[in-house]
Amino acid sequence: MLLHCSPSNCSPDGSDAPWPEPGSWRRQLAGAIRDPRDLCQRLGLDPAYMAGALEGHELFEVRVPEAFAARMRTGDPMDPLLRQVLPLASEADTSPGFVTDPLEEAQHTARRGLIHKYAGRVLLIASPACAVNCRYCFRRHFPYDDNAPSRSQWEDTLNYLRDDSSLREAILSGGDPLAASDRQLAWLVEKLDSIRHLKRLRLHTRLPVVIPDRVDAIMLDWLASTRLQKVMVLHINHANEIDDAVIAACARLKAAGVTLLNQSVILRGVNDDVDSLEALSERLFEAGVLPYYLHAFDPVAGAAHFAVSDETAEALIAELRTRLPGFLMPTLAREIPGEASKTPL
Ligand SMILES: *Cc1c(COP(=O)(O)O)cnc(C)c1O
Ligand code: SF4
Repeated sequence: MLLHCSPSNCSPDGSDAPWPEPGSWRRQLAGAIRDPRDLCQRLGLDPAYMAGALEGHELFEVRVPEAFAARMRTGDPMDPLLRQVLPLASEADTSPGFVTDPLEEAQHTARRGLIHKYAGRVLLIASPACAVNCRYCFRRHFPYDDNAPSRSQWEDTLNYLRDDSSLREAILSGGDPLAASDRQLAWLVEKLDSIRHLKRLRLHTRLPVVIPDRVDAIMLDWLASTRLQKVMVLHINHANEIDDAVIAACARLKAAGVTLLNQSVILRGVNDDVDSLEALSERLFEAGVLPYYLHAFDPVAGAAHFAVSDETAEALIAELRTRLPGFLMPTLAREIPGEASKTPL
């Protein structure tokens, strides 16, 4: 029923929010701000930030779609969204213990683009690209070029899933899996659907947040067509990322039967205070999303300036617990190489 709504005449949540024009997200992604100077200008920042941004840009490529930039405050270099995406001279800092593959994923790559570390679930790199480049990202040094499989390599991956009947869940990750085309995703989901022991399809994505128009009728078509139960883990670090367009995109996803969760990373200067974390959980729930993980900071090379100590993170969580109901509490956790699950702190 939902699938036959046309963008202009129907909205899944009964609100007046118009549906996005199908495929317009591609243009928005292609038109993303790629030059730090443009980002500084767009936000009316003091030119003093430009030099540092350009220096940082040598090591970290800027990519910010307008839909995301529009949620930033102009003239504020401390804006919590801007800080996630604008490089600084500190990008070049090296710190002892900050390495390029902090999770040692290179050891768990069973097939190209497939990471099988945890019982029952396997993570597939469905797209090497992201809609936004996040400065703190632990995958920013991931060798995506080696891990973006072709169709025939996908067959190899799918055989791996078919042969392991202990698997319950396929997790599409990246990069951002929703940066792949709907044609590719529809093909892949159909293949996963035909593997009888799989029960769940999970997507780890930031795209519905960065470009809410990604959740268009074409995407909802393949999403609604599978027998697999669907879970989407969004990635939102600050309440200001959730505007009306994000809330409407979440409503469309929920109407298509998707369970919505969120993971965040604790980041210095972005969300390392209890008010920000409280506001984030409250705002997530307004959008119909439950907090899932709050990731302790991983020591990825070039991002030491975001580090929050475990002691600080644990104290924040303890205080947050005095303010929120249990179902709005994220689990503070870290991925420790060699462990059989994420490790709660
Ligand atoms: C985080 C992660 C998962 C999923 O873990 P959950 O605790 O189920 O969210 C699966 N595989 C890999 C490689 C991961 O990093
Ligand atoms: S994988 Fe996620 S956190 Fe990393 S750069 Fe892409 S969108 Fe950002």
